[in-house]
Amino acid sequence: MTTAVLALQGAFIEHERRLADLGERTIELRCAEDLAQPFDRLVLPGGESTVQGKLLGELGMLAPLRERIEAGMPVLGTCAGLILLARRIEGDGGWLQTLPVTVRRNAYGRQLGSFHATGTFGAWDDVPFTFIRAPFIVEADNAVDVLARVRGDIAGVRFGNQIGVAFHPELDPDDRIHQLFLSL
Ligand code: GLN
Repeated sequence: MTTAVLALQGAFIEHERRLADLGERTIELRCAEDLAQPFDRLVLPGGESTVQGKLLGELGMLAPLRERIEAGMPVLGTCAGLILLARRIEGDGGWLQTLPVTVRRNAYGRQLGSFHATGTFGAWDDVPFTFIRAPFIVEADNAVDVLARVRGDIAGVRFGNQIGVAFHPELDPDDRIHQLFLSL
């Protein structure tokens, strides 16, 4: 199977390495023409969601990606990638808007912007969470499964074939979240 990794900006190489370690073939999406290559699933990496979102729009990639996600293609959005998926962004519009949650950008403020924690993710214990100027989810529709909370705030969800996490699983040695994604 092949995973397409959005490679416009941000931490996409780390996802490619992790997926390769798990035996997955990856391709990079940098322009609309890249969407013509066959791929089975999608990773939206961390970075700067406003930059990534604007580029997706300018490059004509928002609508085709939205269509595929809505048709059931598995997607993993991490940090900025979660923001790209969110139906609502506090004080802002939205980008792909396929995941029925509301996110707050830079939710931990400047001083607590980056930190490490461990916690439960679904049925798993001791999952490492690395947050870098992370958002959290302030509201999730009833149909959304909440998989992780950190300090009470929602940090990981699943909705059908969409997984959205506020942290960076590609930066920690634990590969369970990527394995879950590859099992969808
Ligand atoms: N603060 C970034 C944003 O709002 C997300 C940071 C990240 O992806 N590590 O897009």
